[in-house]
Order: sequence, then structure tokens, then C-alpha cells
Amino acid sequence: AKREGRNIIKIFQPVMLYSRQLRSQMAAELRDAIASTELVLHYQPVVELATNRILGVEVLVRWQHPVRGLIPPDTFIPLAEEIGVIHDLDRWVMSTSLRQLARWKKELALDDDFQLRVNLSAVELKQLDLVDHVRALLRELDLPASSLVVEITETAIVTRGEVEMYSLLSLKQLGVGIEIDDFGTGYSSISYLRELPVSMVKVDRSLLTELNTRPGQLEFVAAILQLITAAGLEAVFEGIETRQQADQLRAMRCNSGQGFYFCKPLPADEMGALLGATRYL
Ligand code: C2E
Ligand code: CA
Ligand code: CA
Ligand code: CA
Repeated sequence: AKREGRNIIKIFQPVMLYSRQLRSQMAAELRDAIASTELVLHYQPVVELATNRILGVEVLVRWQHPVRGLIPPDTFIPLAEEIGVIHDLDRWVMSTSLRQLARWKKELALDDDFQLRVNLSAVELKQLDLVDHVRALLRELDLPASSLVVEITETAIVTRGEVEMYSLLSLKQLGVGIEIDDFGTGYSSISYLRELPVSMVKVDRSLLTELNTRPGQLEFVAAILQLITAAGLEAVFEGIETRQQADQLRAMRCNSGQGFYFCKPLPADEMGALLGATRYL
């Protein structure tokens, strides 16, 4: 009960910042936004630290509100979960970004190992037809399954529901990469690193913020990296904001990372221009 209580607080907090009236107005607007063109996708590179080569991009949704401006996902994703439209939102993001990837692959001659990383909500993992949907999209767009990685927060999978496990196993069998997102924030259990069908772990950016100020933090981060590697998984560090952090992670032989130091999330046209110009940051 304590766990559930904490989850609920975590999920609903940002929404509570709004008054009830504003919330119900925004809920109605969000329903329309998904059907219209108000949601936009930004893309942020994930980089191989040894070479600064762009390995792929993470898809990050924004809401371009006609009056309120660009609204960040931390604000409206919880609202979308609460009012039950997160499923539509996640499906829209998945198909729109895969179509974008297919276009980039044609126009920019991206190689087959370029990876699109899509965030999936806990709700989406519970959908029995998720795998069929993904398989059909990949087939339609003629994309290899390995060009897709789904990012799932650890809170969404530690519960190990039957449908969630079915989704993970079938996605893995299909060849889609599965990554635990925000590692180190939720109810991390070391054992599931070895038990769940995942291939990558993205370490939450909060672990990097005190990297050079808190005593022992560098060693702590190095130990986490070793833990992930020892479990046979690939580690990705997010929230790399300085050259020093990138150098330190590189010295630890961390494979890949992402953050403002390399590139902030960009709209599709800007990301296309970047990818057309170079694969190195
Ligand atoms: P996340 O998956 O952990 O995404 C990383 C967040 O860190 C993004 O915020 C990104 O813009 C930000 N970030 C990237 N580099 C840096 C850095 O160097 N420093 C700092 N301080 N921040 C950095 P964003 O775009 O606001 O997304 C927030 C969260 O919203 C995401 O966290 C994810 O949980 C959720 N989200 C975003 N797009 C989607 C989506 O399409 N579907 C679902 N279900 N959730 C999404
Ligand atoms: Ca993510
Ligand atoms: Ca994350
Ligand atoms: Ca996050």
C-alpha cells in the first residue's frame, strides 16, 4: 500500500499544480491535441562516448499549445494517464516517429544500426496488441526490428504483471531493444537486471548532477556502471551536461550517453539537417 501510495503521489503531483478548472479544460484540449497537429516530436541524439558517433535518437513529445505555448511532457503525460488518453498518445508517437525514421533512412542513407528510442508508458505495456501493432508498423515501413528500442521506466516493470512480461518477451523475440529508463530512481532491485528480458539500462540523470560535488559520487556511478555491465547489459547515461562528465564516463569505459553537452532535443527538420551533415558530435 505504501508503494502504491508513493507511486500515486509521484504520478499525479505535476497535475495537482493546476487548479481543477484549468485541469478539466486542459484535459479536453489534450484529447483534441492528440487528434490534431498540436503534438510535436523532438529528437535527441544518443552518442557513442568513445567516438562521439550518433548511435540513434530518443523521441520526446511536446505539446504546441495555441495559447499556452510549448508544454513539456512532464506536465501533460501525467494528465494523459489520468484521463485515459496515454494509449492514443503513445501509439501516435510510435507511428509518427517510425515514419520519420523511415523517411530519414531513405533521404539521409542512415545505416541499419541507427536506433530510434521511444518512451512507452506503463499502460502501453499492458496492451495485449502492442506487439502486433509494432510488428505491423515495422513491416509496413520496411524497418528492421533492431532499429527500434523501447524505453520503459523501472516502476512500470518491477510489478512484473503477466501481460507486461508477455509484452517484453514478445518484443524481445521480435528483435526490438528493451531498455529500463530512469534507472536508480524508482524501486531499483538489482536482481531484476538479470531476470527481466531487457538489453539496456539508462541511468537517470540525477546520478550525474552531483558527480563532481558529492564525495564518493564518482565511485558510486562507476559501481553502477559495473553492475549493469556485469549483468550483461549496455549502459546509457542521460543528462550529460559538461565535457568533464563526458570525459569521466568515457574513462570508466561507459559505452553511450546523451545530454545537453552533446545536443539538446531538436525538432525533426533540425535533426534531419544535423544527421544529413554529420554522424559525429
Ligand atoms: P526521460 O525519458 O527521462 O527523458 C529525458 C528528459 O531529459 C527529456 O526531458 C530531455 O529533454 C531531458 N534532457 C536531455 N538531456 C538533458 C540534460 O543534459 N540535462 C537535463 N537537465 N535534462 C536533459 P523531456 O523531453 O521534458 O521529457 C520528460 C519525460 O517525459 C521523459 O523523461 C519521459 O518520461 C516523458 N516522455 C517524453 N516523451 C514521451 C512519449 O512520447 N511518451 C511517453 N509515454 N513519455 C514521454
Ligand atoms: Ca526516456
Ligand atoms: Ca530517463
Ligand atoms: Ca524521466
